[in-house]
Amino acid sequence: MDRTFEVEDVLGPPPTWQVMVKRGLRRRCPRCGGGALFVHRFRLKDRCPTCGYRFEREPGFFLGAWFLNFMALETVHFVGIMAFILWKSGHPQGGLILPIVLAIVTGLSLPVLLYPWSQTAWAAIDLAMTPLELQEIVDAADAVDPAGDDGGGARPGQ
Ligand SMILES: [Zn+2]
Repeated sequence: MDRTFEVEDVLGPPPTWQVMVKRGLRRRCPRCGGGALFVHRFRLKDRCPTCGYRFEREPGFFLGAWFLNFMALETVHFVGIMAFILWKSGHPQGGLILPIVLAIVTGLSLPVLLYPWSQTAWAAIDLAMTPLELQEIVDAADAVDPAGDDGGGARPGQ
């Protein structure tokens, strides 16, 4: 009966990166899959209310979310431009007004519409690239159980 316990023995292995990204794309916590992560549509809470995972793990976290949002918009615009080039090759007399209006409308609306998903997706990518350190795991546990009840008592929400 000589056994030592590691953090992984107690908490279980972290989810795979595919699971984390799927959760992020569903606006869920990448660590536990919990919901209700937003203060309002565009503002992520500081921590997951279910597991206590802190989303902004270091300054500049939201730059990654903005970058993901920008990449999504650029992908849509790239596909639109390619479709326009194909269409224009068959319709040389076609105008430019509709494509320009569509580009402006999508350029203004998509970043606003997609921002919540880009935040949780970036949180998932960040967590997949940089696994939690022991201190972050302890801080997360303390955030959902501030009394520090380590004796197996019921946790909030259970
Ligand atoms: Zn969580």
